[in-house]
Amino acid sequence: MTTSAREIHLAARPKGWPTDETFRFVDTELPAPAPGQVLVRNTFMSVDPYMRGRMNDVKSYVPPFQLDQPLEGGAVGEVVESAVDGVSAGDLVLHNLGWRSHSLTSEFTPLKEVPGVSPSHFLGALGMPALTAYVGLLDIAQFKAGDTVFVSGAAGAVGSLVGQIARLKGAKRVVGSAGSAAKVDHLTGKLGFDAAFNYKDGDLREQLAAAAPEGIDVYFDNVGGDHLQAALDVLNRHGRIAACGSISAYNEKDLPPGPNNMHYFVTKRLSMRGFIILDHYDRLSAMIGEVGQWLSTGQLVAEETVAEGLDNAPAAFLGMLRGENTGKMVVRL
Ligand code: NDP
Repeated sequence: MTTSAREIHLAARPKGWPTDETFRFVDTELPAPAPGQVLVRNTFMSVDPYMRGRMNDVKSYVPPFQLDQPLEGGAVGEVVESAVDGVSAGDLVLHNLGWRSHSLTSEFTPLKEVPGVSPSHFLGALGMPALTAYVGLLDIAQFKAGDTVFVSGAAGAVGSLVGQIARLKGAKRVVGSAGSAAKVDHLTGKLGFDAAFNYKDGDLREQLAAAAPEGIDVYFDNVGGDHLQAALDVLNRHGRIAACGSISAYNEKDLPPGPNNMHYFVTKRLSMRGFIILDHYDRLSAMIGEVGQWLSTGQLVAEETVAEGLDNAPAAFLGMLRGENTGKMVVRL
C-alpha cells in the first residue's frame, strides 16, 4: 500500500532573497517502509537560517540542496508504519527529512514525550538551536559567572537561549540586540535580559556602549557585519567571541566589507572562535539535562512562533529570515 504525501522541492537556486519561484510543491506516493525504515507523519518541521546557505551551489560543511529534489531539515512526527524492531506506530521521532507531510527514513531518533513540553521543542529549546546556544556560550566563548554577555539576534531561537543560559549561570549583565521594539520589550520583560536595544534605531555602537557601560566580556555573534564591529569596540580585555553565524549577509549578493577595527584583537588580547554545532553532539545529553530542568521549573522561557500548514512553510522560512519570529520559528503540519 502507498501513502499520499506532499513535499516541497528546490525549484531554483535563489540569487539574493528567495522568492516563490524558489519552491515547488509536489504530490507523491510513498511506498511501505523497507526493512530498517519507518514511515513518519510529520507534525512539526523546522525552518532555520542554515537552509538558506544550502540553497547555494557551494561547498560547505553540509552539501547543497539538489534542484528538483525535496528540501531537508529537522522535523518531528509520529510513526505510522514501522519496519524497525522496537519501533511501533504512534511512536514520536525526530529526523532530518522535513519540508514534507510524510517521510520515509532509516535515520531517526526516538523521542520520549515530556509532559507539558510540546514536541516542537525538540526543534528548538531542547534541540539543535539550544545545543548551539549551550555549546557556543559555555564551551566556545568559555563563559564564566560574573561575565557581561552581549548576544545579537537575541530574540531568535539561539539568541534567546544564550541570554537566558547566561543569566541562569550567573552573568553579571546580559545584553541583547533585536530588530523591533516589541522584541526588545520581550527580552527585558519576559526573558530577564538586563538591557536590550533595537539595532534599527540608530547608531549600533552607541546603543551597545550605553547598554553595557562597563564593556562586555563575551560576544555571541549571530549576525556579523556591523554588530561584530560594534562588539569589538566595546569588548573588554581578554574578551571572547563565539562566531555562530552572520545572518546579516546570508541574502546579500555581495559580501559587505569586514570590520575595520581588527587591531583590537591584539591590543585587547581578544579571541574569536567559530563552530559548527554538528561537531558537538557529545554535549547533547548535558544540554538536555540542564535546559530540560530549567524548562520544567519555568526558569527558562521557550518562546515559539508557529506557522500553520505545509503550504505556509516557504513563507515561514522567509519570515524567519526577515525577523518575523520571536523565539523558534516552526511549522505545524
Ligand atoms: P533566529 O530564530 O534568530 O531567526 C533569525 C533572526 O535573524 C531573525 O528573527 C531576525 O531577527 C535576525 N536577522 C535577520 N536579518 C538580520 C540582520 N540583517 N541583522 C540582524 N539580525 C537579523 O535564527 P536561529 O536562532 O536559528 O539562528 C541564529 C544564528 O545562529 C544564525 O546566524 C544561524 O545561522 C546561526 N546558527 C549557527 C549554528 C552553528 O552551528 N554555528 C547552528 C544554528 C544556528 P531581528 O528581528 O532581530 O532582526
